[in-house]
Formats: sequence, C-alpha cells, structure tokens
Amino acid sequence: MYEDKYKLSLHNSLTRKKEEFIPLDESHVRIYACGPTVYDYAHIGNARMAVIFDVLVRILREIYPKVTYVSNLTDIDDKIIAASEKSGKDIEEITEKFARIYNEDMAALGVRKPDIQSKATQTIPEMIELIKILIERDYAYVNDGHVLFNVTNFDNYGKLSGRSRDEQIAGARVEIAPYKKDPADFVLWKPSDDGQPGWNSPWGRGRPGWHIECSAMAEKYLGLPFDIHGGGADLKFPHHENEIAQSCCAHGKEDDLSAFARYWVHNGFLTVNGEKMSKSLGNFTTAHQALEEYKGEVIRLTLLSAHYRQPLDWSDDILIQNKKVLDRFYQVLYSMSDIEIDENIKADEVLEALCDDINTPKAMAVFNSIERKNDVEYKSKLLSAGKILGILQENPAKWLGYGQADDVDVNLIEKLIEQRTIAKKAKDYVRADDIRNQLSAMGISIEDTPDGVKWKKL
Ligand code: AMP
Ligand code: ZN
Repeated sequence: MYEDKYKLSLHNSLTRKKEEFIPLDESHVRIYACGPTVYDYAHIGNARMAVIFDVLVRILREIYPKVTYVSNLTDIDDKIIAASEKSGKDIEEITEKFARIYNEDMAALGVRKPDIQSKATQTIPEMIELIKILIERDYAYVNDGHVLFNVTNFDNYGKLSGRSRDEQIAGARVEIAPYKKDPADFVLWKPSDDGQPGWNSPWGRGRPGWHIECSAMAEKYLGLPFDIHGGGADLKFPHHENEIAQSCCAHGKEDDLSAFARYWVHNGFLTVNGEKMSKSLGNFTTAHQALEEYKGEVIRLTLLSAHYRQPLDWSDDILIQNKKVLDRFYQVLYSMSDIEIDENIKADEVLEALCDDINTPKAMAVFNSIERKNDVEYKSKLLSAGKILGILQENPAKWLGYGQADDVDVNLIEKLIEQRTIAKKAKDYVRADDIRNQLSAMGISIEDTPDGVKWKKL
C-alpha cells in the first residue's frame, strides 16, 4: 500500500528525539500546521514555515497514498481589530485582502495550498463547544465575561516546551488581569464591546482567544489523534502548549499528550544578523518585497538551504548563491531540451536524504552530485527530485531569459544574429564584433552555446 522502501524519521518536539514516523493509518496521513494572522503582508520568516511544511507534505505524498494537510488563517485577533481601527477599513476587507495576498505569494514560492485552509471565523461554533466541555470538566472557569483555562488543574502543563512555572508566567507576558485566578491561565473567550466583532455565546457576546481555534479546527477536519502538528519554534510556548492543554483535557487524555497530535515538528527561526525576523523588531522583508527582486524558486531554495531546525540568516549573498545554483541546473536542462524523461526513474537518493528529518542541505548535496551517465536518467532524476523540493519547475529557456523580451524587435535581433553567424563563418570578425556591439547597444546580450547562439535582454 505504501512505499516501504523509504523510512521517514522526524524530530519530535514532544519526545525531544528523532523518531521513525509511523502513521496512525498508513492509508491516510493527517497533518496540521499553524498558519498566519492575516492583517498584513507575511514576512520571509512566515514563508519559511510554509515552505518547510510544503516540502514535508510532498515527501509524505511520495510515500503514502493519501495525505490531508490542514492549516488555519487567523482572521480574528486583537492585532486585526487594531489594524481595522487604525485604517478605518472593515475587518473582512483586511483579512480577505491579506489572505489572498498570502496565498498568491506562497504560490509564487511553489507552496501548494493546504487541502483545507480554514479561517478561524468559520469554526466559532466548534470552539464554543470545546470551551463548554472544558468548563464542565473543571479545566476552565468564567470570570467577568471571560473564560479562562485553569492551568493549575492540568499537571502536564509545560511538558511540550519544558518550561518551568516561573518561565511559563514570564513567557505568557501577562498584563495585570483581575479576571485570572492564576497569572499563567490563558484566555479561551473574551467579551467584545459594541464596536468590536463578536459572536453570541453562553458567556455573552464575545470572541475566541487565539489558541482555541487550532484545537477546534484540527479536531474538526482531521479527527483526534492525528499524525503531525507543525509550526515555527516560537509557537511551542504558549500556543502549542495551550492547544495540547485544551484538546487533551477536553477528551480525558490528561496523561497522554500524544492523544492530540503524535509528532510535533517545529522549524527554527529565520534571522537577520542573528536576530529573529519579526514584525515587532521591524527587521523584516515581506515575501511580497522579496518576490519583486528574486524569482520564487530562488527564495524557496534559499529557505531550504539550512536544515529546518537550524536558524537561517537571511542575506542577499545566500540568495545570489542559490540563484547561481538554479541558473546552472536550468542551463543543464536547457541543453537537454530534446530529451524525453522517463517518469519511472526517480531520484531515490534525494528522497532518502529528505526522509532523514527533512534534511534539505543533505538532499541538495546529493542532488548536486547526481551523476550524468545517461541523459534520460539524469534529466528524469533532476526533475523528479525538483518536484519534491519544488524547484526546476519552470521552462528553462524562460528562466534563462533566452529569446524573451516584450519590447524588442525579435525579427531584427534574429536577423542580426544570423548575419553575425555568416560573418563569423567567413572569418569576418570585425563585422561579427560590430553586430555584437550593435545588439549590445539595443540592450541585447548574446551567448554562443553548443546549441547555437542564444540572446537575452540585459
Ligand atoms: P504569525 O503570523 O506570527 O502567527 O506566524 C505564522 C507562522 O510563521 C508561525 O508558524 C510562526 O511560528 C512562523 N514564524 C514567524 N516568524 C518566524 C521566523 N522569524 N522564522 C521562522 N518562522 C517564523
Ligand atoms: Zn495553531
């Protein structure tokens, strides 16, 4: 039923060990990853998470017959309310615009849309149901229109992140909140005033806290337990700790933290000069801006150039380096334009490297050293591995810019190139150089390749 020649291993943050991945149901693997809050452009750090989980899903799809990937869009949150108040725009207008831009930018990075991408506001009834159960089971209490999760009643609170109680309180960045019994308690539901978006609930008109949306959505779309839960390392605490608390306590699984998700996968930070890229530090580049300067595959390969658990420092240098790698492979593919690939030939060695805890640097090293003994085999391997990594998916001539320009007279260029070839054959190098200079003055560069002369716009 599944490709048992590949053994996938993943570092599980819950056990702090690299483990063999054994799905609950090998005929259907289920994965959830926490997506962005859609009130502004996503930055490259957010994109790292999207690209990593896209690669993981592609690996899973190579091995298992069916994979369901669910991710959320947070479209109700205090930051969104603040953005709406500041701009005077409706919340839906803001969230719809930025959800669309997020999906367009991720598509440009080769990220396939999750099978189910659900907005938090589409899951409010399920969130209310879950909160009701938590109150019934004495894991949550109502105070002053708020519903709070009572962390002191859950002995295993802090097990995922390994945070002590003092660290939990410090990490929760709690303001003085008179409605909390304990400073580490977190909000499940809060009241909305008239000007704020709100839904009717047993606790009055209000809105959900952030953490409950993922517990409700994962259960609704995947069922519990499911296989893999992912997100950036910053989400381990408090977000994922709270998701585990909510879901395990609601289902009587207080002593089995894997009863929500079995494997927890966290990507490391994208950094700038060693500091986490974040909106609050102001050291961010949006995916949108980066895409104006670099092609999607260049950004994608750069995001995959470090192991996902390691930090990755963003700089133009690594982008340029990865552009060169792709240019070189596109040159190779261009030179093999006439070769038909054999769909049955796969780059098993690259997939094996990826199966070792998504080791993308190792996979790229293996990819670089695939031997070119036979063109059909070589091209087939490059393209099959490229499909899993999400690179080399473009037309080589287009990538290299050959014969591509909107605002030039293609006939004239080709005529000049032909005249230069004739001049060269006649050993009239002065004339040949004159033509090259004429083309260059028109903003066209030419290159003599084994397949003839190629031109592109400078
Ligand atoms: P947010 O919109 O801040 O909730 O983030 C959306 C996703 O991007 C989450 O999975 C975060 O963990 C992840 N993320 C945010 N900043 C970074 C960063 N600098 N590096 C890697 N992942 C990040
Ligand atoms: Zn989440």
